[in-house]
Amino acid sequence: MDCKKCVNKCKAEYCTLIPIPIEIWNKHKEKVINNKDLRYEIFKETGVVFALINSKCPFLDAEYMCSIYEDRPEVCRIFGDESNILMTCKWQDKDGRMRSRQERRQVEKKQQDEQAKCFKDCK
Ligand code: SF4
Ligand code: SF4
Repeated sequence: MDCKKCVNKCKAEYCTLIPIPIEIWNKHKEKVINNKDLRYEIFKETGVVFALINSKCPFLDAEYMCSIYEDRPEVCRIFGDESNILMTCKWQDKDGRMRSRQERRQVEKKQQDEQAKCFKDCK
């Protein structure tokens, strides 16, 4: 998958709320900690931080690139492997082929259904 070729269209859509391991957060938080729009919570029991700046991952830069690419969390490294629908990118398949508008809609629908199922099961 080559994200650079489509970030102008996808705007890194999936770089939103992800579990950031505390070690990665502590190493890089200075890049974002003074941003007034930063919202974050540290979960010491699970060793992760959830953080957002205006609904986006705080490490996403203005060109939709990852500012901690070399240290990005494991989930970011494997995202797009299509191991399940929530690890599937609606913009590109795992081999880097751009999906059609119809295919994007299909992936999006399946992801919404799966998320709804997860929320229901959690209640
Ligand atoms: S994983 Fe998909 S949505 Fe995210 S930057 Fe790459 S192509 Fe865009
Ligand atoms: S750490 Fe980087 S790759 Fe992962 S969600 Fe944030 S900006 Fe995207």
